[in-house]
Amino acid sequence: MTRRSSIMSKPARLTPMLEQYFEIKRQVPDAILFYRLGDFYEMFFEDAEKAAPILDLVLTARGKGGEWEAPMCGVPHHAAEQYIAKLVRSGFRVAVCDQIGDPALAKGIVRREIVRVVTPGTAIEGTILDRESCYLLALSPSEDSAGAAWLDVSTGDFFVTSYATENDPRLHDDLARLGPREVILARDEGNGLEVTMGKLATVSPVEASYFEAGGAAVYLCRHFGTQTLRGFGLETNDARVGAAGAALRYASATRKNDLAHIRTLRVESEADFMVLDASTLENLEIFESRDPSNVRASLWSVLNQTKTAVGSRTLRRWLGRPLRDRDRVFDRHDAVAELLGDRTLLDRVGELLSEIADLERIVSRITLRTATARECLTLARSLEAVGRLSQRIAQLQGPLLASLRAALDALPAVQSLIGTTISDVPGPSVKEGGVIREGVDRELDELRAIAADSKSVLLGIEAEERSRTSIPSLKIRFNSVFGYYIEISKANLARVPADYIRKQTLVNAERYITPRLKELEEKILGAEEKAIAIEVALYERLLEELTENAAPILATAHAVGDLDAIASMASVAIRNRYVRPSLSDEIEIAIEEGRHPVIESISGERFIPNDTTIRRGENEIQVITGPNMGGKSTYLRQVALIVLMNQVGSFVPAGKARLGLFDRVFTRVGASDHLARGESTFMVEMHETANILNNATARSLIVLDEVGRGTATFDGLSLAWAIIEYLHDQQERNAITLFATHYHEVTDLAKTKARVTNLSVAVREWNDQIIFLRKVLPGAADKSYGIQVAKLAGIPASVIGRAREILTTLERKERDVVEETRRTDRSRSDSDAGQLSLFDTREQDVARDIRALEIETMSPIEALNRLHELKSKLMQ
Ligand code: ADP
Ligand code: MG
Repeated sequence: MTRRSSIMSKPARLTPMLEQYFEIKRQVPDAILFYRLGDFYEMFFEDAEKAAPILDLVLTARGKGGEWEAPMCGVPHHAAEQYIAKLVRSGFRVAVCDQIGDPALAKGIVRREIVRVVTPGTAIEGTILDRESCYLLALSPSEDSAGAAWLDVSTGDFFVTSYATENDPRLHDDLARLGPREVILARDEGNGLEVTMGKLATVSPVEASYFEAGGAAVYLCRHFGTQTLRGFGLETNDARVGAAGAALRYASATRKNDLAHIRTLRVESEADFMVLDASTLENLEIFESRDPSNVRASLWSVLNQTKTAVGSRTLRRWLGRPLRDRDRVFDRHDAVAELLGDRTLLDRVGELLSEIADLERIVSRITLRTATARECLTLARSLEAVGRLSQRIAQLQGPLLASLRAALDALPAVQSLIGTTISDVPGPSVKEGGVIREGVDRELDELRAIAADSKSVLLGIEAEERSRTSIPSLKIRFNSVFGYYIEISKANLARVPADYIRKQTLVNAERYITPRLKELEEKILGAEEKAIAIEVALYERLLEELTENAAPILATAHAVGDLDAIASMASVAIRNRYVRPSLSDEIEIAIEEGRHPVIESISGERFIPNDTTIRRGENEIQVITGPNMGGKSTYLRQVALIVLMNQVGSFVPAGKARLGLFDRVFTRVGASDHLARGESTFMVEMHETANILNNATARSLIVLDEVGRGTATFDGLSLAWAIIEYLHDQQERNAITLFATHYHEVTDLAKTKARVTNLSVAVREWNDQIIFLRKVLPGAADKSYGIQVAKLAGIPASVIGRAREILTTLERKERDVVEETRRTDRSRSDSDAGQLSLFDTREQDVARDIRALEIETMSPIEALNRLHELKSKLMQ
């Protein structure tokens, strides 16, 4: 055996300490074990090797040169939290193993136990969490559908959903939207899944039995105190139940707590919300800007004016989950309108909200028994602010605000319980005392009096000894090794009385004790110790009583969150001059003077508003052409963002708007507008386009920006053409579509397809220069202006001149191709081959192939594949 043993191959003969270490380590093979040794937490073997570089610690060894040698590193116990946080934020699990009982009294080795396991997805530690949600995802893949449960232990948010398979794009959308910190999977199942999930979060394997639906149902029923799960809308034999059971059991086992604050389980279904897939969130820059130099350029940054942490999480959730139900959207608009109508009230509401702490997280920490006395006081003060808030908004009328007000419970009993138990300025930890108020417990008050009294007696002894010995510098001091002692400097040693007992010699002084001092010391320490034991017990009881109130506190917290989100929307609407949209039962978009909410707020330029009028069945496909930099992408996104904001319940950046309710927003952004990704762009583009063509419904909004740009001009043009045709000709599912392209040839489609309309961004040419007017007007652009834009960017004049020549030649040729395509479209039968004189025979072949295509019977993918083949033929 090598000298350097590993955890897994332990050496034959062990010291008792290592024996114990291995036994404990076996319980948590997947976690880094913090093993308490005196004033340190030590890590050994692979744990030490993994942790040392992350924590910036020096790797040393224990048992050097002995039978075995263990790599080791350690951190001081009082600083442990920061180190744990650092490891957990790096994706590790940390098991904290403490000494149980008094080391001085232990025979042989001290007992040690794991007191908690901290993992990325079950964290409640303030050092680890940020303001955002912290989700644990439990995923149970099965043949036909994957059950999933999402749990945020820090707030108690808990819901289940299911995905068609583990490859369901909806799963990927949810992963993008909710960003789980940790994923649990059944051990040894779906290694592939482990790898994919491992790229996103910490993957923790758990026993497969955790996911077994029957056992999980029993576990959940016991937790919620229900007979069945029907009240939640779930049957026992459901993969979602297995996932929910696994999530709760795992969290409960790692936190070593029954998680009583998790009171309910929601079942999320797609039908209730507008679907925003991952690429749409990204393309529309909902939560994050794609421009790294301008991280605040997201819709979230513009809309988030919330004052509380709960409100910020609520608004974020709303933004990722716009509503589809007309009444609910209407109620949110109504609530925003009402708050917006009374600015004094709105300001006051904002101030009161600012006084409310993160109630969800405090409740979690209370139920998990980690809340400090100061946090309890914060809870009481927050509830007090809730009371004032509730009074202040008493006159609000609308159904949503009235119901929120009714849900705001200031819980006076909880406030007074905390106020009468905790002292005004409690110490940082109950273990140091000074947390429980005077008058709460008689015995505690007596013990405190004894301790305080004795301290004045101590001062008396000091004075007495000074005069008895005539040493003015004599001092009584305290340390944890000797307790109280008398310190005499070297110069005065001659005057030390005979009854002093010497304990320690220092360079400049000697330390003594006396029997009387020791007697007093016992009384002081005994009283303090007993007092702290009583404080700890009383504090425990307080936390228990508060835990019993977890449900009403959380209900209040949620009402605070909703109110904050609505108040935020009202403030933003005032600040940015948004208007209330009216809701239409038709699928239509009618916007007057619409603006892009993000660009108007970050750009120094004055934003030019634009109108939009689209009705399904009339002009549902809008082709927008115009030069680069003309404002096409901005216009497209502006319309999509206004639609989305409407369904979040927000007012919108426009002069006036009437909007239908959409079920999905699809977006596809062409390659060069999407540089950050750097994938095989054409393939990605086609995947995403196929997804749109296959999944859009009559109630969807599709935004296609420069699709086809990722490939050669003719490919791109043909694809753009074919996609628009397909979208137009779908009888039942023709969705409202905005299509921006710099292939102005595509505008010819409007001549043959009834519901295709051309728009273009206006430019003015002046002295061969180009001026962008940023106005979107009816009609097609007459040319691409690429060369003018290039000139604007400073390309040398000779290059520009040559480009003009080439362009003229190309345009002639291209026109011919487009003409031909139009002809084949009109009559797919044999046409006059003589018309193809411009083409060589290879091209004639391709043209014949195209004529022979039966487009009606082809799926989009087949069509794309065919196109690809045809292109290859031409390139041979
Ligand atoms: P395109 O997609 O046509 O190339 P973009 O939409 O990317 O053009 O817009 C180019 C620039 O013009 C952007 O920097 C944008 O901020 C600005 N812009 C676009 N639309 C407007 C508008 N309506 N008012 C003011 N500036 C605009
Ligand atoms: Mg663009």
